[in-house]
Amino acid sequence: MTDKIALSTWPTPLEPMPRLAETLGLREGDLWIKRDDLIGLGGGGNKVRKLEWTVGAALAEGADTLVTTGAAQSNHARLTAAAGARLGLDVVLVFPGTPQSATGSSGNLVLDSLFGARVFWAGEGDPSALAGVADDVCEQLRRTGARPYLIPFGGSSPLGARGYLDGGKELLAQLADIEHVVVALGSGGTMAGLVGALGEERVLGVHCGAVAEPAVAVADLAGALSRRNHTPGTLRIRMDQVGAGYGVLHEPVLEAIQTAATTEGIVLDPVYSGRAMAGLIAAVRDGELRRGQRAVFLHTGGLPGLFGHTQTVHRSVAALHTYEAV
Ligand SMILES: *Cc1c(COP(=O)(O)O)cnc(C)c1O
Repeated sequence: MTDKIALSTWPTPLEPMPRLAETLGLREGDLWIKRDDLIGLGGGGNKVRKLEWTVGAALAEGADTLVTTGAAQSNHARLTAAAGARLGLDVVLVFPGTPQSATGSSGNLVLDSLFGARVFWAGEGDPSALAGVADDVCEQLRRTGARPYLIPFGGSSPLGARGYLDGGKELLAQLADIEHVVVALGSGGTMAGLVGALGEERVLGVHCGAVAEPAVAVADLAGALSRRNHTPGTLRIRMDQVGAGYGVLHEPVLEAIQTAATTEGIVLDPVYSGRAMAGLIAAVRDGELRRGQRAVFLHTGGLPGLFGHTQTVHRSVAALHTYEAV
């Protein structure tokens, strides 16, 4: 029996987005935003809700070291580092690449070291080998007398997904009559938890290119969570925002980031939340999300990632807003 631990103050705010709604041709009260970017730990973001469960399990097992994997700009890794700092646990992050990959590092990598986490660079090989490397790191840690606990990629185990079963229920208590919840789909735990709380019909996931088979990932996690069968085919998942691939900025995402910023003062990231917003805008344009229906955008955070991709975002934004004195 695992108890979750508190890593922030709940609930997160829910706010209307009237100017964005109007810009998209919707009614003022149609669009809302659930501010999980404002979660109070380590710069915020969706991974904290999962960590409340997985780190709770680590503590229950008597662990003294958290180990996890991800891309170098992983928000999950950054928040694992922050959770470790908060609780006095050591943290080892297993990233692809070499120590040189950290040269001139920015965004999440800076925060990882600020929180005191150590990085094990796994080399340039196949990213799918990372889980094996993380197992080896745990084994080595055990030999030195440490008690490591391995948190899976993105925190997306059935246990971690319970964080969004909680998050979905929290949202339902804040707002009734929700027809759509739009969310970025990475490793799948966030969408799976929301499906558990709100049902398959109301959750629209936007695939970000992080996993090969997003529908299978979500169906498996949702099934394990609810002990009911979920088939990949009945989940609502938009596959149209991957562009050139995970982490590569494409035009609709840049447009979505700019639209949210200029209409609502909301900052999205280029890898996840910007893609989710691009998916929401596409859903309005093709009629999947209609005027008079109530939709909630789940802001999953990721702001530090924006500063890990400054070149592309800044170049285009700077070009747009030059003020010429007359
Ligand atoms: C990880 C992440 C997601 C995706 O969540 P999953 O549970 O992995 O699908 C979305 N947005 C941000 C900012 C993230 O860091």
